[in-house]
Amino acid sequence: MRDDNCIFCKIASGEIPSNTIFEDEDFRIILDAAPATKGHALIIPKEHYKDLYEIDENVAAKAFGLAKKMITPMTEALGADGFNVLQNNKEVAGQTVFHFHMHLIPRYEGKDKILTWGHEEFSDEEMKKICESLKQ
Ligand code: 5GP
Ligand code: ZN
Repeated sequence: MRDDNCIFCKIASGEIPSNTIFEDEDFRIILDAAPATKGHALIIPKEHYKDLYEIDENVAAKAFGLAKKMITPMTEALGADGFNVLQNNKEVAGQTVFHFHMHLIPRYEGKDKILTWGHEEFSDEEMKKICESLKQ
């Protein structure tokens, strides 16, 4: 399925040119146009899925498999020291393009800050309640 108004559908199909570092039947991996660091890439499925809520489970598994395959050669080619693999779902979580994608962000020692977030406090009782509410 494809969404004619979606920029990543157009990039994934090749209709809009991109700096592609990998392509197969189901995915295209491109360089991010506004990279967080040198070599920041995006794994984009060719099918349109809005986010992790909607993506087919097998496609999601394949995306993570591709992340696994890519980071070693990318680390070597870039002289990177580590990688963040991250994936945003919905606006509140920072998603800006509503076609599922996974970020591969190379990290360089001494060059940039580690991604970080604040910390909320919960009592032991609250943590137990949260844990109970989340058990599957
Ligand atoms: P999100 O915030 O949705 O997780 O990430 C969207 C990413 O897509 C951003 O890092 C942004 O720089 C990148 N991006 C948005 N539009 C384009 C584009 O047209 N081409 C490329 N290569 N990257 C894009
Ligand atoms: Zn799309």
